Amino acid sequence: MSFYRKYRPQKLSEIVDQNHITQTFHNALRKHALNHAYLFAGPRGTGKTSAARIIARAINCLNPAEDGEPCNECEICKDALAGRLVDLIEIDAASNRGIDEMRDLKEKINFTPSRAKFKIYVIDEVHMLTKEAFNALLKTLEEPPAHAYFILATTEAHKVPETILSRCQRFDFHRISTEAIAKHLEDIATREEIKFEAAALQLIAKQSLGGMRDALGMLEQLSSSGEVTSAIVAENLGLTRPAAVEDFVFALLFHKMPEALETIINLVGEGVNLLQFNKAILSRLREIMLEKVSQNKIGEAKNVLTIIEEFTRAGDGLKNAVIPQLPLEMAVIAVCASDVEIPKASTPSVTPKAMVASIAPAEKISPAASPAPAPTPVEKVDTPAIPKASQPTEDAKQALLTVLGKIKKPALKMALRESSILTANGEVVIGVGSDFLLAKIDNAESLGELAILFSEALGKPVGIKVKRVEIEIASTTPEVSKPQASIPKKSSLAQEAENLFDGDDY
Ligand SMILES: [Zn+2]
Repeated sequence: MSFYRKYRPQKLSEIVDQNHITQTFHNALRKHALNHAYLFAGPRGTGKTSAARIIARAINCLNPAEDGEPCNECEICKDALAGRLVDLIEIDAASNRGIDEMRDLKEKINFTPSRAKFKIYVIDEVHMLTKEAFNALLKTLEEPPAHAYFILATTEAHKVPETILSRCQRFDFHRISTEAIAKHLEDIATREEIKFEAAALQLIAKQSLGGMRDALGMLEQLSSSGEVTSAIVAENLGLTRPAAVEDFVFALLFHKMPEALETIINLVGEGVNLLQFNKAILSRLREIMLEKVSQNKIGEAKNVLTIIEEFTRAGDGLKNAVIPQLPLEMAVIAVCASDVEIPKASTPSVTPKAMVASIAPAEKISPAASPAPAPTPVEKVDTPAIPKASQPTEDAKQALLTVLGKIKKPALKMALRESSILTANGEVVIGVGSDFLLAKIDNAESLGELAILFSEALGKPVGIKVKRVEIEIASTTPEVSKPQASIPKKSSLAQEAENLFDGDDY
């Protein structure tokens, strides 16, 4: 049995780092003041399903503890734990049987429970239900019988229809803190008699990005090697941490020098094997290049090829590097610097950090937007904009800048910086130019954060919608003639917004 299943929390108090939720349920269970429908939203591996099952047992337990926890000993609890309590109905909306199960639900919901006091429906990945199934669910949620409770769980709450959301009390599970994961890993390693270095568990915790499932999976996988050491974890990092690879590749494709250099600094800090990491980078770039070829975007494929050449060279350099990360840093600068205006007064002996600060307010780097010759920036700026129905309003642009200033998460910030926006009918529509960037924005957590920030910035509640649009990859060819530094440049965002909304996408 996997560690994740073996050590699944059996009581609310065992759920790691979601106290805001477990406490509320302790109170509600103690006072018998439960709602009939809950929605648990949050990233994978943060305890949603575990919590749902515990609460399901607690509701029906014959001998609950004073704080509302299930006893896990009575026959109802035992049957529920063994998966044979007919009154606990778990539906995986992601499976093919989802529709049948929902139809079944609608037919049987009104029958009284057969053994327990209440029927409890746990619907996992509820956002995957078909429209038809949602309708069936909505009918039951509108008038749930007194003997039924619903706990819906989802990693993508924004895909759950508003009509369903409005019937549920919502709880947001956040990413688990690195400290909490590391401590939990230590408990389990000790119980499993696995030898470990504390720093190694910290590394695992850090790279699992707040998901306990990934953290335990990694611990389990690495424990087979005898002792879990930092070296072993680091050896595996380049391969097991796709997020770092993706972030780095976006940064390269969009010429985000500061982000790319920052990633390298972080990797070195984490003791990552840079050769492995470079291999992962090359393999990802190759995929993108071939994809561009298959789309017949040969120009873009060639741009990616240029990056591949740089990092192939870096790979050779890494083997004998005096300063381990230098070859990668050189490659980053070679790729990104082609369209950066180098400041005239260059400071001697710059550390990467200092370089990040001095060269590159990110807006100065020309982004993904097409470098195709456009009317000169001055003309553009001076021409009064003719308002078009589909153009982003000044308000929207201003709001975007305000929001960008407030976002803490680097990946989300970068993705948003590469996006364009438009407001209409109380909605902010974000145009995103790649699937990678899309993934950074189009998830429950990011959308939630953006909804709050945009509502604040615009001074009225707005919804957020994300749309995939085509954006070209930046050219790596140095520009022959550069515009004079004194000419006011249209911000990349505004430019991109225009490129986007001039199209017939909207
Ligand atoms: Zn019990």
